[in-house]
Amino acid sequence: MSRVIAVVNQKGGVGKTTSTINLGIGLAQAGRKVLLIDGDPQGSLTDCLGFPEPDGMDTTLSNVMLNVMNEADMPLSFGILHHEERVEVLPANIELSGIEVTLVNTMCRELVLKNYIDRIKEAYDYILIDCMPSLGLLTINALAAADEVIIPVQASKPSVRGLQQLIRTIGKVRKQVNPHLKIKGILPNMVDARTTYARGVVDLLKSGYGEQLKIYESIPRSVRMEETSAEGKSIYKHEPGGKTAEAYHRLVGEVLIDE
Ligand code: ADP
Ligand code: MG
Repeated sequence: MSRVIAVVNQKGGVGKTTSTINLGIGLAQAGRKVLLIDGDPQGSLTDCLGFPEPDGMDTTLSNVMLNVMNEADMPLSFGILHHEERVEVLPANIELSGIEVTLVNTMCRELVLKNYIDRIKEAYDYILIDCMPSLGLLTINALAAADEVIIPVQASKPSVRGLQQLIRTIGKVRKQVNPHLKIKGILPNMVDARTTYARGVVDLLKSGYGEQLKIYESIPRSVRMEETSAEGKSIYKHEPGGKTAEAYHRLVGEVLIDE
């Protein structure tokens, strides 16, 4: 049984991309077959994994979604790249913003990505979708295709406030297009455990949402983590045994528990 997990937050800079990468590579290290889908026209997942110049790529998620909309045939591996840390990657680039516009006038516009994922699902244990920072149609497509949602949240009060709108949107998608969709948990990210402010924000999350949702153990803020974006590799390779690698290991463990 494969699981599709969307990593979502309409705020940028909260750690969606880094969490998708490090959760995905961690699951691959645990022997699972993993596909990472870059769902952001900025192509940051593609970029952070070290693929050169996403905007110069010929085949990306945009072509895949266009093929689905046009009912054109494509091989199952169409557009999928291999990363040396044993994950497969469906890249994205700026062309994806055009797809968001095209989707508006498409039949079953919320279900284009789901249609694609249903075809390739069997080949993977986990498909992780790194969403863009908005609640537009591309993100709705990711939520419609997903079984589970993980919400990275930066340890700041405005970030926590934005959560309500996100949870409401997820509720709407559940009601209207994807009754199976579950919020797996909230992942507090970039938490500086030395500051009372950051600890206070995590407490706020727990008191506000802890009863309905799982609050994962926090990912610490670390300079080494910041560097991985430019290195094209995971935190496990960049700083093995470090606090952040350990924190992602624990997250991987939490996800594996539900198998
Ligand atoms: P999003 O995808 O939500 O926009 P990113 O994953 O791209 O967020 O992260 C935003 C920035 O924060 C990136 O520069 C990334 O390197 C940095 N970052 C992510 N996680 C951490 C962390 N735990 N500690 C320090 N910096 C981090
Ligand atoms: Mg991102």
